[in-house]
This record gives sequence, C-alpha cells and structure tokens, in this order.
Amino acid sequence: MQKIFNFSPGPALLPYEVLKKAQNELINWNNLNVSVMEISHRTNHFMNLIKDIKKDLRELINIPLQYEILFCQGGARTQFSAIPMNLLDYTETADYANIGHWSNEAIKEAKKYCNPHIINPLKKKNGLYYIEKMKYWNFNHNSKYIHYCPNETIEGIAINEEPKFKNKTIIADLSSVILAKEIDIKNYGMIYASAQKNIGPAGLTILIIKKNLILNNNKKRKELPSVLDYEIISKHNSMFNTPATFSLYLSGLVLKWLKKKGGIKYISKINKKKAKLLYSTIDKSKFYINKIKNSNRSITNIVFHFKNPEKENLFLKKSQENGLYYLKGHKKIGGIRASIYNAMPIEGIKKLINFMNDFEKKYI
Ligand code: PMP
Repeated sequence: MQKIFNFSPGPALLPYEVLKKAQNELINWNNLNVSVMEISHRTNHFMNLIKDIKKDLRELINIPLQYEILFCQGGARTQFSAIPMNLLDYTETADYANIGHWSNEAIKEAKKYCNPHIINPLKKKNGLYYIEKMKYWNFNHNSKYIHYCPNETIEGIAINEEPKFKNKTIIADLSSVILAKEIDIKNYGMIYASAQKNIGPAGLTILIIKKNLILNNNKKRKELPSVLDYEIISKHNSMFNTPATFSLYLSGLVLKWLKKKGGIKYISKINKKKAKLLYSTIDKSKFYINKIKNSNRSITNIVFHFKNPEKENLFLKKSQENGLYYLKGHKKIGGIRASIYNAMPIEGIKKLINFMNDFEKKYI
C-alpha cells in the first residue's frame, strides 16, 4: 500500500514496480556487472534496448511502418523550433491553434521562423471555457501544417476530438497525454512528447513522424543544427549524438509495465474513470469549481479553484500532511491541479476525493 500519492504535473510519478525493478538492476544491468548508464550506446545490449522500445511503442500506439520513431533531447520546447526549421522553407507558413500556455509558447517560438497563422478556438459561454470544433477553425489554405496542443497541462483544458482531415499535416504536442488515451496515429503527420509526465524521466523527447516528412525534404533551412535535423537523427537511428541512455532505459521499463497492464485501451478506461470521479466531486460541491465544459476537460490534469480563494493555502498544507503531494496549481492560474497520469492508481484518487469532501465539510 502506497503511503503517499504524488500529483506532480511533471516530472511526475513513475510506477512503483518500475522503480523497484530499476533499483534492483541499477548496478548490474543484463548481468553485465555495470549499470545501464555506464556502457556505450553502441553496444549490442543498448542497441537491443532501443529496438525493444521502438517495438513496444509501435505495439502500444499501433504505429504503421510509414512512421518513424525518433528519440531526441531538449524537451518538447526544442521541438517548438525544430518543427518549423525542419518543415518550412523561408517563405512558407503554418497554422497554430492557441488554446493555452503551451500552444502559445510554441507560437512564440514559431514566430522566429515564420509568420504563423493563429487560430483562436478557445471560447467562453455562460462562464464555461470550451474549444470550438475543428471544422469551425479558420485555416489558412497555404499553411504547410497545423500545430496544436491537445492537452494543456497548466489550464487542464483539452481537445478531445481526433483531427480528421484529408491532405492536411497535423502536428500535435502530446506531452501531457501521450499513452493516456487511444489516438489514431494515421490522423497525424507528427506527434511529439517530453517523457517526464507519462513515459519516464526527463531528458528524452519522443517524436513519431511520417517518413515522407523526413526524407527528401528540401524545405529545411541551411542553418538547421544537425542535432535537430530529423533526417540526420533518423539516419543515425536516434544516435547522432549520445542519447539520454538512462531516461530511455527507464522509459522502456514503463512501456513494458503498460503492456503488461493491458496497454492503452485498458489504461484509458481507468484514466477516464479516475477523471470522472474527480470532476463529479468538484461539480457536486458548493466549495470547489472547475470552469471548463465537460467535453474539453483534461483527463490527465484536473484543475480546480475555490469559491473562497482564501482556503487554497490551507488546502495545500493539509493535503500534504495527509500524503497528497504536489497539488499546487501553476502560478499562472493558481488553484489546485491534480495530475493523474497512468501511474496514479485509483486509490490515490479515492484518497484525494475523501480529503476534498472532509475539507469542504470542515471549512465551508
Ligand atoms: N508542452 C507541454 C504540453 C508541456 O506540458 C510541457 C512541459 N510542462 C512542454 C511542452 C515543455 O516541455 P519541456 O520542458 O520538456 O521542454
């Protein structure tokens, strides 16, 4: 039985079984008498690990062969510049939807490389935020791709609709929702995610990208650094520079853990259940509020505020004392944020809900 539950937005909790396994093999991996961090990435052992991670990702996300999996560094933020530098020549532009903090950060970076066409689908009606359906988005027909963030980690707002377009290249930053719910990868030109929320430790960024966006690409800019060049990364099997070996190793264990659990189909049901339990506690209460329309609520980052904001600090103090850690909302919007990625068991949600109900009774 876990003593504490960690609701950190990222770097976030990892499955206990995975940490235990890593602890056991830390100083002796694969009977090599050394740790995975102390061997060359060119050894057969490490090459097999990479092969296995790719195979497991293909199986879990159902990735067809016309997509390449790339392992990069520098976080999702690095991709905010790598994407336009790889995919747009000096005259081209792209559509960027803005629904919150991380979409906006991507836009700020894209402005260094192009004149992005901004789509603003975030709306408010009767006090509730919602996101307009994609069929109403005002696309620029000359844009080479559409970039958006389906799950805004800070605001807890999400685009739960799958992008279904013919002849449009969709690029999505899935940092806080990858592996949490099923997607149809064939709807996307590229998805990418930092590892440190739902995959493994920080230091690794995973890209799943259509091969035709990488190969024979005459769009990329001449000043594109080689370490960010998708074609070079791909040709070197994601080892043009030394990969984040420990992060890859641990992420590999998380993928095996997820497969054993029943894959994304299974975990997404649990994730939806966890989110539903929490949102219904908020909706039923006279004390807590969430201002996002049901269909646009995140299943991984549940954000709420207090009708009386003075209670916030006390809630944080008492929740911590009760073994419910890192619930503080992002400084930009305050309130409470419960990040409930795959490794958060339902017991953690039940404990949080009991705490919320007791706190409400006591302090309303
Ligand atoms: N996109 C999203 C949706 C995120 O949540 C984050 C990190 N919180 C980032 C991008 C940036 O990731 P990194 O710090 O790894 O660059």
